[in-house]
Formats: sequence, C-alpha cells, structure tokens
Amino acid sequence: MNKSNSPDLPAIDFIRSIIREDLESGKHQSLVTRFPPEPNGHLHIGHAKSIQLNFGTAEEFKGICFMRFDDTNPLKEEEEYVEGILEDVKWMGYEWKERLTYASDYFEKLYEFAEELIKKGKAYVESQSAEEIRRTRGTLTEPGINSPYRDRGFEESLTLFRQMRAGKFDDGAHVLRAKIDMTSPNINMRDPVLYRIRKVIHQRTGKKWCIYPLYDFTHGLSDAIEGVTHSLCTLEFEDHRPLYEWILAEVTAPCIPRQIEFSRLNLLHTVLSKRKLIKLVEDGYVSGWDDPRMLTLSGLRRRGYPPSAIRLFCERIGISKSENNIEMSVLENCAREILDKTSPRLMCVLKPLKVVITNYPEDKTENFHPAKHPKKPEMGTRKVPFSREIYIEYEDFREDPPPNYFRFAPGKEVRLRYAYVIRCDKVIYDSTGRVSELHCTYDPKTRSGAKTEGRKVKGIIHWVSAKNFIQVEVRLYDRLFAKPIPGSDDPEGNFLNDINHNSIDILSECKLEPEIMTSANKEVFQFERIGYFFKDPKDSLEDTMVFNRTVTLRDAWEKLEQEQH
Ligand code: ATP
Ligand code: MG
Repeated sequence: MNKSNSPDLPAIDFIRSIIREDLESGKHQSLVTRFPPEPNGHLHIGHAKSIQLNFGTAEEFKGICFMRFDDTNPLKEEEEYVEGILEDVKWMGYEWKERLTYASDYFEKLYEFAEELIKKGKAYVESQSAEEIRRTRGTLTEPGINSPYRDRGFEESLTLFRQMRAGKFDDGAHVLRAKIDMTSPNINMRDPVLYRIRKVIHQRTGKKWCIYPLYDFTHGLSDAIEGVTHSLCTLEFEDHRPLYEWILAEVTAPCIPRQIEFSRLNLLHTVLSKRKLIKLVEDGYVSGWDDPRMLTLSGLRRRGYPPSAIRLFCERIGISKSENNIEMSVLENCAREILDKTSPRLMCVLKPLKVVITNYPEDKTENFHPAKHPKKPEMGTRKVPFSREIYIEYEDFREDPPPNYFRFAPGKEVRLRYAYVIRCDKVIYDSTGRVSELHCTYDPKTRSGAKTEGRKVKGIIHWVSAKNFIQVEVRLYDRLFAKPIPGSDDPEGNFLNDINHNSIDILSECKLEPEIMTSANKEVFQFERIGYFFKDPKDSLEDTMVFNRTVTLRDAWEKLEQEQH
C-alpha cells in the first residue's frame, strides 16, 4: 500500500522514488511518461492502474504524459476503441492536451531507424518462412540456430528491405530481423523480428505501408521520439528490457528512456484481459463492453462508479513488483467510501408488499421532509408523501419470525422511517396462499421527531406511498464469475466454465420516492438500507427509469442489521 508522510506529497512507491531521484540528481530536467494502449479493445480496471501511474506521476511531478495509441497491428484495431479509450481516460480525470499520438505517426522515422540498423550490420532481411524461424529459435534450454541469411551483405538486405516497403513481395516472403545473438539465454534476444509484410489497410495510414514494425521495435523508439524519461510497463515486459535497451543503444536515439516494470493488477472473481473480455462480449455472456458487470471502465461508469472511487482504489492498491490478487471488496469499499459522502438518500421498495393503514384517513396525504443527506444539511431536504396505503419491502415481513427478528411480523410494531410506528393487525393472502397485503394501524403519537419515550420499537423499515411513487426497474448485480480465479480449476484454463449464471437480478416492480431530483441523470443515490444506485444511461426510457445497483451498503447483511438496532 502507498504511504505518504504528508497529504501534500505524492504517495511513495519504488517508481516514484526513482523518478524523484532522477529529478533531484538532475539526470532529467522534467518527467515525461506515456500511456500506450493498443486500440484492440476497451480499457479495464487494470488499465486504470497504468493510467493513474503514468498520468498521475506526470501530474504530481509537474511533468507531461503522452496519450499514445500503439497501433502497429492493423488487423485487430478499430476506431471505436480509440474513441472509447479517450473517453475513459478523460473520465478518469486526466488530460493529454496536444499530446495525443499514435505509433503510426512515427512509421517513417521507425523505418529510418530500421535502415540505420541494416547499414550498421545490426539487422538483416530474413527469407525463411515464419515456420522455419520459429523452428530454429531454440527453446529455454537449447540455443537457436543462425539463419542462412544472417550474413547476407547489408547492401542486399537494404535492397530487399526497400523492396519490401515498395510492395514487391507477398506477406511472409521476408521479414527484417535484428542481428543480436541466437545463443542468448533470453529468447527475445535471438534475432527478433522487427518488421513484417502485411498487405492490409491501416486505420490511420491507409495504404501507405505494407510493412509494419513489431511492438518491441516500435515501443522503445516511440518512447525515445517523444522524449519519454520513464517508460512504465507491466512485469511481462521485464524479459523484453534487454531488447528495448539494445535497440536504443544501436540507433541514434534522440533520448534514452528507462523502462521500469511493475506488477499488473489482478482482481479476483473477474477476468482482466482484452482477449477474454472480447470473448464475453462476442459470445453474448454480457450485453456489451459497458455491461455493468464488466470490470471495464465503461462498465464501471455505467454501473455508477465515480472516477474518484477508481482513483482511490488505484492509490490504495499501490505500485510494486510483487504479484497480487486483489479482492473485489477493496474496489467496492472505495465506491462505498466516496458514495456515502456524496449520494443523496431516497427510499425505494424493491419487492413491494402493500400495507393498508386502516385508521389513516383515505383522502389524506402528509409530507415528511427528511434530509437528502444525514450529515450534510447543506444538501437540503426532500419531500416524502405519506398516505393510507403504502408499500414496504416483502422481505421486511415474516409470518413466523425467528427470535430477535426486529422487522415486521403479525401483531408486532415497526417504525416506518421518517413517519410513524405501525402495528400489523391482519395478514391478507391471495388465492395461492401467499401474503398479499397487510392491514395495520398507526399510532399518531409516534410521528417522527415527536417524543415517544418508553416505547420499545426496535425495527425501522423503509416504505413508499402507494398513492405517490415512481415505478422503476432495478438491476442488482453479482460477480460475473463464481470462482476467484476463473478457469484455474480447468486443465485448459477455460474461464467460461466459471461464469456465475445468476449475476443479474432484474426487478421491474420497484417503487421509488416520487420526488426524484432533477439530477437523476448524473447522481448516484443511496436507496436507504439497500445500496447505491445509478440511473442506467442506456436502458432508461422516458417513462421507465432503470437503476443499476452500483454497490451494496455493506459487505454483509448482518452488519446492516446490527447497525440499525
Ligand atoms: P490485456 O492483457 O488486458 O489485453 P494489454 O497489456 O495487452 O492488456 P495494452 O493496451 O497493451 O493492454 O495496455 C496499455 C497499458 O496498460 C500497458 O502499459 C499495460 O502494461 C497496462 N496494463 C494492461 N493491463 C494492466 C493491468 N491489469 N494492470 C496494470 N497495468 C495494465
Ligand atoms: Mg498488449
């Protein structure tokens, strides 16, 4: 976890320590970072960790951060993702200003660097097939074998490379390889492929190129071109660092960025890999990338997570090199912490049971004026109408209550929050024998705020007037996966086996307090006793609002019960 000695100072972790040292020693005048997603999917909560590290450190150390798309693979990339990613980063609260770049902006420069390597004898055109290259690469225990083309003269390689660019060859006919060391214990250093032929249209450069640079070649050089000082990436790139450094050392790089790796975020009960998320979307397990059960930034946004909760979460999990599996409750607690402070309160009955207060006049309506927020009087009050017929939560009534049951039961009294104490006189059943209505009496002396000393009513339940309510649909969510690490028990790692098929519960008869604030489109509400809810921006219709439960009030029901009594 991050620790900071003063609230004004940035949190301390090993990367921030390195940055601070480099700035203090004068190694760098100012910090330059980048966030480099590949536009082949939407961003997830793992990316938020990287966004917060790259954009966050730039902000803390008064440096700059480039928003750079790593668009070197024209086959998998789509414009839709570019737009979605920008929206997500902006939503997180970060700005790139004029520093929106694409690796493809640098294709010409990268090509020049490649020629430079060839001329120095540090790269050659390989004419073996991809299959042959793979076969001769060796294994972790065996060295690779030199290609017969490894020692072809640099002029020949240069000519071939220029012809590759000019479109003279078919896909796969040749590739450009770095000439490093086929016996290196690090397989990444065994003459890695730098360029390949791909006769496809690129979303930004169109038909201009038919050769495309590979990730390792592109990444470090793009960093150097942008003047990145600290290139922060996840641990799987640790083995690529020697190659990153080799490339920068062998060309005339405008600057030498330093690659530093940190551990990825893994969250239990979900998957965080674009490949897997795409599968969930394409196979219809979820309604889309922004399904509120998805741990994508768009899913979390639609579910009601405020960006401040995501930032708090990233701060809390911190940055280190150790592998970690974070419990979902850590993220949920961050949302609770933020939302408890900001959310206006409302009452909503999810599964209604009609209550008739037989001694309350039929034509009467009185209004209660509870605070929108119990600790924030400045947020003002709301108007909650009360009438002879109301709805209470079906689950707040038990015909045969267990001992110490404080909610409602035959012959028992309960307090209606903000209103009166009522007593259950009679239970009405429908033709199937199910409880369909309660007949009760209220005690006018117990009006909320009045002194009712000596009266022992332990239970307080929420309610909504049956004369005056808004009918809404509420969607309750559970984890998308039943197992902490989806696929971990399957020999094939098939994560789809562990899908929780009950991860959504749709309730369409919910009754909400009528005076829903005009801010319903942007605010997350606390439905008292139930949780935090956000109006679904996509599925809400003009006459039927849909609410997503962002998060429950507490981790467990028991705690809620204890707290209330
Ligand atoms: P995925 O495995 O989900 O497809 P990726 O690493 O291929 O992710 P990129 O678009 O390449 O996705 O990621 C952009 C940046 O976000 C990279 O610097 C990457 O290291 C970082 N990143 C991706 N996933 C995580 C994660 N789970 N935790 C922290 N950083 C991450
Ligand atoms: Mg990637």
